[in-house]
Amino acid sequence: MKILGDYHVHSAFSADSSEAMERMVEQGMQLGLQHICFTDHMDYDFPAQYLETEKKFEFDVDVYFDQIKKLQNTYKSDIQIHIGVELGVKPNIVSQLEKLVTSYPFDFVIASSHLLDNYDPYFPDYWAHINNHSETGIRAYFQSIYENIQAFDNFDVYGHLDYIVRYIPDPLFAYHPEQFQEEIDRILKLLIKKGKGIEINTAGLKYGLPFAHPKEEIVTRFFDLGGSYYTVGSDAHKAEHLGYAFAEEAITLDKLGLPAPSLFVARSIINKW
Ligand SMILES: [Zn+2]
Ligand SMILES: [Zn+2]
Repeated sequence: MKILGDYHVHSAFSADSSEAMERMVEQGMQLGLQHICFTDHMDYDFPAQYLETEKKFEFDVDVYFDQIKKLQNTYKSDIQIHIGVELGVKPNIVSQLEKLVTSYPFDFVIASSHLLDNYDPYFPDYWAHINNHSETGIRAYFQSIYENIQAFDNFDVYGHLDYIVRYIPDPLFAYHPEQFQEEIDRILKLLIKKGKGIEINTAGLKYGLPFAHPKEEIVTRFFDLGGSYYTVGSDAHKAEHLGYAFAEEAITLDKLGLPAPSLFVARSIINKW
């Protein structure tokens, strides 16, 4: 198969990217993508200790829509550009997230877990507070994803389900999803019950892991349990990472026997199987 769209793309609207949207779009055209969906970070109530600058993981949604609409117009004969968002979910901000998503006509919404108990597992203090125990940290992350999905409904896919394994402090820890089967099954069953999909995020490959997020076993399990769709995104924060390893990932998806990834417009799948 060919992956026709990148559905996880950041730009300078995200605090951790300085890339111009135009450069992302131009890169998408160069790669021959038919769709690019911006999904900048909206992480309300991000703990202050992690913010290096004044810049928060929040953006002006009106300006965001204006800018993407201009690009849609400029590039309308070249590539389809969509307006998405990546929400950082925590139970205490779900009403804010709900308000955002119902107030604006997003094409696509990723729900992601970036924080648990107000720790960011990207940083060593998360691991320090659990004595640098990799298995404990991963298990707690999966548990918190389940709680987030219980608390929040208004999204299309759950992002990078096992990306926490990028940050485990113990280089010798061998991650196998079956160690966390109970936690993972609970998540997948709840997603399926709520009619949601999962995201396959190729940034894992960029981080030098031999798999995209989530690992293949979890993707297969999702479909075995009755899951019906998924999207693919690179999670690029720079133009050079757009569509990262899509050709390689397409081979993996074929091997897994999966149908083509879903493409979203106006919160609906436009390429139903
Ligand atoms: Zn994310
Ligand atoms: Zn992202």
